[in-house]
Amino acid sequence: MINADVIDFWDSPGTSAAHENVETNCFLPNIDFGLNYAPMQKENLLGYTLGRMENLMASLGEKPYKGRQIFKWLYRIRQYDFSLMTNLTKNLRRKLEEEYTFESLKAEHVEESQDGTRKILFRLNDDQPIETVLIPDENGRKTVCVSVQAGCALGCRFCATGTMGLLRDLTVGEIVGQLIYLRERFGDNAFTNVVMMGMGEPLLNFENTIEAVKIITDEIGLGQSARKTTISTVGISPKIIKLADLGLKTRLAVSLNAATQEKRAKIMPVAETFDLDELMEAVKYYTEKTGTRVTFEYILFKDFNDSMADVKALSRLIQGIPCKINLLAYNPVKELEFERPSDEQVDWFARQLYPRAPMVMVRKSRGMDIDAACGQLAGRYPERRRAENACS
Ligand code: SF4
Repeated sequence: MINADVIDFWDSPGTSAAHENVETNCFLPNIDFGLNYAPMQKENLLGYTLGRMENLMASLGEKPYKGRQIFKWLYRIRQYDFSLMTNLTKNLRRKLEEEYTFESLKAEHVEESQDGTRKILFRLNDDQPIETVLIPDENGRKTVCVSVQAGCALGCRFCATGTMGLLRDLTVGEIVGQLIYLRERFGDNAFTNVVMMGMGEPLLNFENTIEAVKIITDEIGLGQSARKTTISTVGISPKIIKLADLGLKTRLAVSLNAATQEKRAKIMPVAETFDLDELMEAVKYYTEKTGTRVTFEYILFKDFNDSMADVKALSRLIQGIPCKINLLAYNPVKELEFERPSDEQVDWFARQLYPRAPMVMVRKSRGMDIDAACGQLAGRYPERRRAENACS
């Protein structure tokens, strides 16, 4: 099994608002045998899609259907020991053991909120930080917010990740690995819903996000319901159209956050490239092509987008679009200028909007005691690393 040292860690009793460091380093004796010999690097199969796995088998002179069997062992059954894959020949098992491995992500730091929200900081092989947030709610839903990039290039003014810039795109394995880690820790029912709404913009890491979604929603992959899997975007209009044409069964969420081009461009620089008119055209195309409704995410900022004029602008904007609007009070980020509106203001906004919109939901802020907003934990990462380096 992967990350046995991490799993051991998880067996220790948790605490509320816990802050835990997870070290997973492996120490090998530094012995020089005087040989000019470099051990063969094993290929990590994490992130291999079904097609890649079948191609791998063909390249090894095996029947492609063996790839399907291995795919199921790794992602669905979570058996990572090739020697125990009993429907493979002994020869194939040995070859896999010699040349391949399946290693998922390593958690560096975990924080747990009093409301049950957990935030996990992973350190990738090249030391880049990413975050995953697991959010339980009172209805039994457990939503996992998955990252698709380390950092983000889009610089939304209210977002901690946006202050980091783009470090790099995540690989397919690094996206899927976040969910595998959660299943390893919490079992098959670790999460019910998946949203690609963590660090980064999914539609700017399009190919890897789509390949990851295929593994996640394949019934012999992670087996997650496509209808409970949401791809979220801040509005990369051409890619919304491309996504619609793929015919996936996943859901789309659009972070709107302002209902006029002028206001939107003030807080989301991406709006200068893909303006609101273009975005709404793309969303209309998406709903028509897929026959699904879209979710608009609207974060309420005090005295910025929470007035009656904003209610009216928003209701005009969405006219004729099958949609749901999720309202969420801003989860403040230190050093950023925006403020959270009062609960009364959020409630007032929802009541004004509801008769004018097909469906309005007010989402509760979760994990406020652990800075659960996207990028806040990884944003502290350079500080943490500097401190660690100073000690070493
Ligand atoms: S809100 Fe999303 S798209 Fe905007 S900067 Fe943050 S991570 Fe990037």
